[in-house]
Amino acid sequence: MVFRIFLQAGLFWLASCSLAWAAQDSIPVRVGVFENSPIVTAAPGALPEGIAIDMIRWVAEREGWQITYVPDSFDNLVERLDKGDIDLLVGFAYSDERAKRFQFSQQSLLGNWGMVFRHAQADINSLPDLKGKRIALMRSSTHGQALVALLTQFDAPFTPVYVDTYPQVLEAIVERRADAGAVNRVFAALHAHHPDVVVTSIVFNPVFVHYAAPKGANPALLAALDRHLAALKADPQSAYYDSLRHWLEATPGNRVPNWLPWTAAAAGSLLVLVLVVAGFLRYQVQRQTGELQRRADQLQSEIEQREQAQAHLNQLAYFDGLTKLPNREGFRTALHQTLTGLQGTDERLALLFIDVDRLKNINDGLGHGAGDLLLQQIAIRLQSVLRAHDHLSRFGGDEFVVIVSEIGASSDAELVATRLLQSLAMPIDIGATQIYSSASIGIALYPDDATSMETLLKHADTAMYQAKEQGGNRSLFYQAQQTERVVERLTLDTRLRQALERDELLLHYQPIVELGSRRIVGVEALLRWNDPDRGMVMPGAFISAAEDTGLIVPLGEWVLEAGCAQLRDWQKRGMADGMTLAVNVSTRQFEGRRLVKSVEQSLSRTGLAPEFLELEITENVMLIMNDEVRSSLDSLRGMGVRLSLDDFGTGYSSLSYLKQLPFHTLKIDQSFVSKIPGQAGDTQIVTTILALAKGLELEVVAEGIETQVQYDFLREHGCEFGQGYLMSRPQPADVLAAMLGRPLVAGIA
Ligand code: C2E
Ligand code: MG
Ligand code: MG
Repeated sequence: MVFRIFLQAGLFWLASCSLAWAAQDSIPVRVGVFENSPIVTAAPGALPEGIAIDMIRWVAEREGWQITYVPDSFDNLVERLDKGDIDLLVGFAYSDERAKRFQFSQQSLLGNWGMVFRHAQADINSLPDLKGKRIALMRSSTHGQALVALLTQFDAPFTPVYVDTYPQVLEAIVERRADAGAVNRVFAALHAHHPDVVVTSIVFNPVFVHYAAPKGANPALLAALDRHLAALKADPQSAYYDSLRHWLEATPGNRVPNWLPWTAAAAGSLLVLVLVVAGFLRYQVQRQTGELQRRADQLQSEIEQREQAQAHLNQLAYFDGLTKLPNREGFRTALHQTLTGLQGTDERLALLFIDVDRLKNINDGLGHGAGDLLLQQIAIRLQSVLRAHDHLSRFGGDEFVVIVSEIGASSDAELVATRLLQSLAMPIDIGATQIYSSASIGIALYPDDATSMETLLKHADTAMYQAKEQGGNRSLFYQAQQTERVVERLTLDTRLRQALERDELLLHYQPIVELGSRRIVGVEALLRWNDPDRGMVMPGAFISAAEDTGLIVPLGEWVLEAGCAQLRDWQKRGMADGMTLAVNVSTRQFEGRRLVKSVEQSLSRTGLAPEFLELEITENVMLIMNDEVRSSLDSLRGMGVRLSLDDFGTGYSSLSYLKQLPFHTLKIDQSFVSKIPGQAGDTQIVTTILALAKGLELEVVAEGIETQVQYDFLREHGCEFGQGYLMSRPQPADVLAAMLGRPLVAGIA
């Protein structure tokens, strides 16, 4: 009993001492509080409450702290803690960043994490769904900042709606100022129970709420808090759990072992982390799937672009831009492939080298635009008569090449060539103008003529030249001796110049006959080259080459003067009464009005009167009808020289020009005459030309009359004049002189 009294007395003493100490030496502690229910509620004018307050009171009572609560906004309190204006801040979430500025208690008050709530009608279920949404955030809250960081990191822009407290976050959602909002789970557990507010599965930023003090200041405060909290947390019956139960209505219960809440907290944190990571991964997967899709699309479009560019390059490399046919390279590739395929077989192949006749005239006369249009049309025509497996390409300017595979006899190739020529027979419309075109075709056969690509091509080219020299509009097979002739062509220009100097040129004269009276009314001077090596060379073999090089100009001047001199001689000898001399002139002689000058010179030097001279100009002159040509023609006509339109119907003609230009005579080309008598269509062309000439008051000379039938037909249809082998071939001057002065009856029945 004595002991008991003693003990009680002792305890009383101890308690009194302790109380006296507390009253006398209580430690003032300024505690910053802000609204963060239920950790701390700091309603104005009321004492703060909450879990953090319960605990600090519990500690303060035991540690003799004299607490002064400092309510302020969270931001201000953080500032004040930094400056040391307050000693402790309660309910402060730990972050590494904050740990650099402040001293945190070791023991956390509780674990917490961010949760996203949404309006019931907002379609938000995962983090990416927040993209573009209005999200209510409590200013400066860790969770708010964490969510901002998270969405920024996920490249999901959104519109923040900042508020000051968590209840305001819910208000913003209810009032639809925000589609969603972020609060912490502790707040959510107690307050987020509004019908319009729905919890999402988005959880983030697991944090632990601690007490914090200014760095380095009063470490005893935090040490005391840590000590007490550790003890309290270890006892499920402690004031700590009472407070949690009170504020969170979460009862750990007696049956729960001590370790469970912490294990659960750790598991919860882990779960949160896992959910965040899973959400993040899902989002990343979605994002990267999207990104992959975008890259795949980009790659696809890059591939397509590249393919297009490649196709374009191929087009440029292997196709001709104008006609869209394969070009020289395209041809070579095709021929190479075909020849490779033919090796070891006994199949044959023909190479047709096509050169468009007189394209140069069209380019010079109508311009390159017209020439291009003509080539396009020609390409279409040629293609239209070929079989699908024949390969047509444009080889160069006016050259096309066809690979005709699977041929049996060589006549198959000839048939194709004939079809190609026929395809060009009808005039081609170039705008309002009609152009007659033709081509020269050379044919080389594989393996008959050659087996290599180069030689085959060379042989086809040689044959084409031969066809051209024979007047064009025809096809020829390659013959070995042709090569020799083409080599000659290369030296032709030099040799022709020498011919002019060495007096190897001469004129033959072909009579022009009045069909009714059979009288010779004129002669056409036709150029011949008496080559010491080759004998008599016809103009077809060298005129076009001379035109190409320009040698035709001095050559033409020589013809003009020689012809005028001859007629003047016959006149002087009284053998050529009223007879005219027709001289062929090339369109190139018009350049620089050279023709007018040389005609004047020839007439004045030989003393021939201009009315006895007739200049034959091919109708292609109309292609180059410029001021220079027109004024030359006017000057010539003004001088009294006669003008005649040669080879009428084979080239380009314009009716309006025919009416305007000062021509006296039309010469119907022999290709029409040779068809008489023929099918109705052919003879009709002749009768039409005759009617036309009559209408235009032009004289008509029919060329190339070879038969009596032709002669009679022409005469009956009102053609006044003619020339042809029927009456006489072109003859040397002395032979012709013998025919003059008497009616020409030879050969005519
Ligand atoms: P062209 O002016 O149409 O001359 C008529 C051509 O037809 C001549 O050929 C003549 O020999 C030929 N011919 C005449 N009657 C007949 C016939 O009944 N049947 C056949 N199949 N042919 C006949 P040639 O002499 O070979 O002259 C060819 C072309 O060369 C001439 O055609 C002319 O365009 C040109 N040419 C001739 N001499 C000259 C010249 O001095 N200067 C120029 N620039 N060209 C000339
Ligand atoms: Mg002529
Ligand atoms: Mg002619």
